[in-house]
Amino acid sequence: MEKKRVYTFGNGQAEGKADMRNLLGGKGANLAEMNLIGVPVPPGFTITTEVCNEYFEKGKEAVVALLKEDVEKSVAGIESLMKSKFGDVENPLLVSVRSGARASMPGMMDTILNLGLNDEVVEGLARKTGNPRFAWDSYRRFVQMYGDVVLGMKPTNKDDIDPFEAIIEDVKKAKGVRLDNELDVDDLKELVVRFKAAVKAQTGSDFPNNAYEQLWGAICAVFDSWMNERAILYRKMEGIPVEWGTAVNVQAMVFGNMGDTSATGVCFSRDAGTGEDLFNGEYLINAQGEDVVAGIRTPQQITKTGSQRWAALQGISEADRLANYPSMEEAMPEIYKELDALQTKLENHYHDMQDMEFTVQEGKLWFLQTRNGKRTGAAMVRIAMEMLEQGMIDEKTAIMRCEPNKLDELLHPVFDKEALRSAKVLTRGLPASPGAACGQIVFFAEDAAKWRADGRRVVLVRIETSPEDLAGMTVAEGILTARGGMTSHAAVVARGMGKCCVSGAGAINVDYKARTVEIDGVLLKEGDFLSLNGSTGEVYQGEVVTKAAELSGDFAKLMSLCDKYTRLKVRTNADTPHDAQVARNFGAVGIGLCRTEHMFFDNQKIIAMREMILATDEEGRKKALNKLLPYQKADFKGIFKAMDGCPVNVRLLDPPLHEFVPHDLKGQEEMAQAMGVTVEYIRQRVESLCEHNPMLGHRGCRLGNTYPEITAMQTRAILGAAIELKKEGYDPHPEIMVPLTGILYEFEAQEKVIRATAAELFKEEGIEIPFKVGTMIEIPRAALTANRIASRAEYFSFGTNDLTQMTFGYSRDDIASFLPVYLEKKILKVDPFQVLDQNGVGQLIEMAVEKGRSVRPELKCGICGEHGGEPSSVKFCHKVGLNYVSCSPFRVPIARLAAAQAAIEE
Ligand code: PEP
Ligand code: MG
Repeated sequence: MEKKRVYTFGNGQAEGKADMRNLLGGKGANLAEMNLIGVPVPPGFTITTEVCNEYFEKGKEAVVALLKEDVEKSVAGIESLMKSKFGDVENPLLVSVRSGARASMPGMMDTILNLGLNDEVVEGLARKTGNPRFAWDSYRRFVQMYGDVVLGMKPTNKDDIDPFEAIIEDVKKAKGVRLDNELDVDDLKELVVRFKAAVKAQTGSDFPNNAYEQLWGAICAVFDSWMNERAILYRKMEGIPVEWGTAVNVQAMVFGNMGDTSATGVCFSRDAGTGEDLFNGEYLINAQGEDVVAGIRTPQQITKTGSQRWAALQGISEADRLANYPSMEEAMPEIYKELDALQTKLENHYHDMQDMEFTVQEGKLWFLQTRNGKRTGAAMVRIAMEMLEQGMIDEKTAIMRCEPNKLDELLHPVFDKEALRSAKVLTRGLPASPGAACGQIVFFAEDAAKWRADGRRVVLVRIETSPEDLAGMTVAEGILTARGGMTSHAAVVARGMGKCCVSGAGAINVDYKARTVEIDGVLLKEGDFLSLNGSTGEVYQGEVVTKAAELSGDFAKLMSLCDKYTRLKVRTNADTPHDAQVARNFGAVGIGLCRTEHMFFDNQKIIAMREMILATDEEGRKKALNKLLPYQKADFKGIFKAMDGCPVNVRLLDPPLHEFVPHDLKGQEEMAQAMGVTVEYIRQRVESLCEHNPMLGHRGCRLGNTYPEITAMQTRAILGAAIELKKEGYDPHPEIMVPLTGILYEFEAQEKVIRATAAELFKEEGIEIPFKVGTMIEIPRAALTANRIASRAEYFSFGTNDLTQMTFGYSRDDIASFLPVYLEKKILKVDPFQVLDQNGVGQLIEMAVEKGRSVRPELKCGICGEHGGEPSSVKFCHKVGLNYVSCSPFRVPIARLAAAQAAIEE
């Protein structure tokens, strides 16, 4: 049988359904499903995502030929349902042509509305509707959209003006009006004539009159838009593969701009910002959908509650609100009732928060789209937990609904309450995406990227944002716009990114040329500081201090639910009592890596540490080590206390030496004085310690094996601290780890020093503390000979930073010099230092676990490289049977969620 390329839907029937989103795209699958469950949807058809790939393989003409018969048949189907005819002068059918990929990509691809109009059809539409203004407005919008999108007239350079916008401005100026809707029918007719002349002048061809010619142009343009720059950037950011392709949805047009009984809007079954179980959304009377999303007119609220909250934020009185900004619930009560019932039906059907688009045409409600709504991290957790409580989903579904990386947003800073007290509120906008942000003002996406690269924090200030601003939004701390509602591009994209955004702050006057923004009489320049509260919509002058987020009860519920399903434990990498405490609060059940070299960055300690490294004999080293011992012991005591009752894995010294010796004159003079030697002596010693490949040099256990006195001192500090705490009534569980082991004998020699020192200390103190001695597995040779190493080592911890470095042969410090090119050319899919390379490095881990446990079945294995907090890597660790992952404190919740998901997926 020939492959099916076109799927029709309409009037309660559909050839597709919800679970066909890979083939029909999210929008297409849902349009079909909505028909099947009795939601009123304008009839239409979907061209599959597979055709998108065919389009890029075989080319335009071949694909049009393949589709022709099916498309014409499907159009005939719409015609009979809508009782009108495509291209007909007396009773015309107009259609929309939209993209729709498997994953939602808001605003990234192209759409064409009102297709099917020409100079004759527009007159027919005017007669049929008795509304010439509406007909001509639709026509001029269509010519503009088609010109921009299909005929390629939208300027690629942002500084150039859209030729159609220039004509509109010209006509408005001549007429002396400010707003588009102040133009009359004759003005609109003039616009069309001038638009078409512009098309002819720029493209050399006439604007297409034939409806099918228009349709094929639009279908191909939507496929083409899969490869436009912003779609490519968005896919890269969201990890969406190019092979997925986009579907094309062709659907009968319904009009929200046919007068005061028509409207259009966007709504959510729950609050996408906070997760509150509250139907909400925005609508505009007598408008088309793009007017809401593009943020050209600031829309009104759908529910009365929402409207009242909005008015309170804007400082608008109830009387003023009712007179000028009534909610849909108040202005169109019958339609509102129907809408509310249908949104409930859709949420109950999909068991998830829905993001819906609708149009009311002359009192009849149509749904144009529904999809699972994008939401903030906070909303994600709250919705999952509340739907669980409401019995809509089960525990496993609730866990799987949460995206581990999105938890990050909950952990983001909020404004310090004290700092807020003295901060000056300049104005208020809409709380479009929560969180606090503070940075220097920039007005252009390119500047945002540049400034960020220079290490500055920026706030992007725009009149409105468009998808072209995406690169700037990605790097900004926050986004402030003068126009646009909660569903404007800026709001939707920012929420998706978990980025603070205040939109629709009408009181700000942005001057792009002068690079200034005037807010309530205060003139701010590019580079001035501004602070935003995306949860309240407040805009503050200057820098307002932020502080860490406080976690909600729902977050705690999710975390404890995770523990119910998890096998993998989550520890943390921490070198200070503070970090250990933070991690413990996030649910870490021990320390998987305490990097002792990180404990010497303090001024006094670094001098003793440098003295130890610069010493040329054992006596000199011992002298310095004696100074270090009390510092180390005190540090360990603090950490053991914070992790009382939990295992603490302390790694012996692993410093690339060059990082610790003074390279500047001031530092060398300081050391000369401290050690009572000449500066020249220090300089020479520093030089002699220089290595060509410090990462492969005198570090890790190579240091402990050449200078065993270091290992002895550290053992004394670790176990000495544990003894003191034990005597004070605490319950320390020390583990001592040998770094950079490659050969069994390297480990054995270190173990000998550790055990001998421990025996000596226990005898001196008259008390014994149980402890384990284990090793890092971070050199490929250690993984290859893991059975030999496990004959002595009591546990393994995979140091995947070094293991990745040595397996790939990429320097972990210098990969940035070629990584971008490798990613660009797809030689690498991801940075292997961020996401564990399961095929290569992963194989070494899997093998080492197996070999290790073949000689020591109870061998505890964990991971402590940066990958320990990255969700896909955590899932791999679960799969290969590690006992725990260890990651930085703020990634502990992410790892806990990923670990639970891994167990559920299994
Ligand atoms: C590792 O190599 O993965 C590791 C945890 O050690 P470090 O990053 O300190 O080299
Ligand atoms: Mg390492």
